[in-house]
Amino acid sequence: MSRLSEAELEKMIKVLEGIVSKEYVSTNLFERIKNTLDVYPYEVQREQICYAVVMPGTTQEISEIMKYANSIKVPVFIRGSGTHLGGNYRPHAPGIVINTHRLDKLEVFEDCGYFECEPGCIVARVADKLAELGYFLPMAPGSRQIATMGGIVVNNTSGHIVDPSIGKPGDYLLGLEVVLPDGEIIETGTKGLRRPAGTDLTKLFLGGDGLLGVITKIRMRLVPQPERAYGLAVYKDLLSLARGVQRMYLERRPAPLFMEFLDDRAASFGFGLRGLESPGGPV
Ligand SMILES: Cc1cc2nc3c(=O)[nH]c(=O)nc-3n(C[C@H](O)[C@H](O)[C@H](O)COP(=O)(O)OP(=O)(O)OC[C@H]3O[C@@H](n4cnc5c(N)ncnc54)[C@H](O)[C@@H]3O)c2cc1C
Repeated sequence: MSRLSEAELEKMIKVLEGIVSKEYVSTNLFERIKNTLDVYPYEVQREQICYAVVMPGTTQEISEIMKYANSIKVPVFIRGSGTHLGGNYRPHAPGIVINTHRLDKLEVFEDCGYFECEPGCIVARVADKLAELGYFLPMAPGSRQIATMGGIVVNNTSGHIVDPSIGKPGDYLLGLEVVLPDGEIIETGTKGLRRPAGTDLTKLFLGGDGLLGVITKIRMRLVPQPERAYGLAVYKDLLSLARGVQRMYLERRPAPLFMEFLDDRAASFGFGLRGLESPGGPV
């Protein structure tokens, strides 16, 4: 795909500003590079840098951006916080980046047993809000302070360690609102707590890394806070740590809701930062 000419680019920016307002379209080089990068330290290539970063505030705006981008054949890349470790996020050609951070509404419908949030909500913020009301967000990525709900749902993973106990985000999803690549807005799933027994379109959008559409609303059932206790175990080496974890799964119920491993060097460093003595082994 050839790059847009200066005149085409200028026209595109004007149209995007008309959709989301001037304030929410950035052509600043720093913003463009920042929104093109992911967590990996590899250099960004000039031809990867996006033309513009757009921060829509509504589903309708996303729909209009998709329709317009389609009409001029410019690729669109969707960005939560760019923390995906699969390298999937990085744009491979110049295009429009839709940054979802402005879409951060969260509503809890206790009487209906679910909550709805927009994709730009930060996972930890949703977890804290639900915890205040006595509910538990069944997602435990190490990136919870920065990753977005949209990024996690699209990825359909929140940690392999907690999969046997918590499951995947998709296990709790009741429905989604999605803007398809041609700009059509669809709703999937249900507002009832009983999910469809047959084909449920919701699942189609899980794990696809945004290839099939932009998720603009997420509906998940409310899960009561489980009773919990925290623990720390020090092992003599990594092999015994691995065996210990295996036994936790095989012999004990309930399985861990969250787990983090540190080798002895990382553990010593972390303990040192807190003014504590080295634990003397992996933790
Ligand atoms: C320090 C660290 C710890 C981590 N720990 C874990 C962990 O414990 N468990 C785990 O499973 N993962 C972990 N991850 C990776 C995790 O998968 C990401 O943090 C998260 O899923 C991505 O969220 P994000 O908002 O950064 O999405 P991004 O990286 O911005 O996007 C991820 C993908 O989803 C697409 N996308 C984003 N939003 C939307 C949307 N609204 N609609 C459609 N497509 C969209 C993007 O185009 C991209 O392809 C970790 C990452 C880091 C950096």
